[in-house]
Amino acid sequence: MSPAFDELVQRLKALPGLGIRSAERIALHLLVQKPEDVLPLQEAITKAAEKLHRCPICGNLAEGDCCSICADSNRDPHLLCVVENVPDLLAIERSSAYRGRYHVLHGKLSPLHDVGPEELNLGNFTARLEEEKIREIILAVSNDIEGEATCHYLTENLIPREVTVSRIGFGLPSGAGVVFADATTLKSALEARRPMS
Ligand SMILES: [Zn+2]
Repeated sequence: MSPAFDELVQRLKALPGLGIRSAERIALHLLVQKPEDVLPLQEAITKAAEKLHRCPICGNLAEGDCCSICADSNRDPHLLCVVENVPDLLAIERSSAYRGRYHVLHGKLSPLHDVGPEELNLGNFTARLEEEKIREIILAVSNDIEGEATCHYLTENLIPREVTVSRIGFGLPSGAGVVFADATTLKSALEARRPMS
């Protein structure tokens, strides 16, 4: 249609879950049907990008020194749930089945895609376990080979033996991520977590 329009569509298409048709539809909606929507949306994206950053403790999104979950004194300080990314954390929060804190890896080990432990948010992980006197860890990562490798790496290399480690598994479809599970499935998956062998 035009180079500017094509660029916008390409940028939208790069977002998760959007194919070429959805990207075109959103671009047309913004530019043709509701041009007045463009500026507030643009401002909201810029503002969020400026204000939000990674929580230095857990890797969640934060607006202040740390995220609202790390700052919440009502949470069990000795219970930690390890997740792959922020949408997974939000999905578990929506289940209301968990009241500890989180550690967001921002990925999972994948030799095929050149993702090693250095690429994950693990720089402060060991120090956290010690400083926060973590007694129990729930590994809420995907039920696939990469998720399995990630759990294995953490339990073999970074988590001390005296910490109780379990992994959610029951109820999650094979090959699917935590974010795709509904609240009931996630609740049962958390309740039916099993010890790591
Ligand atoms: Zn945090």
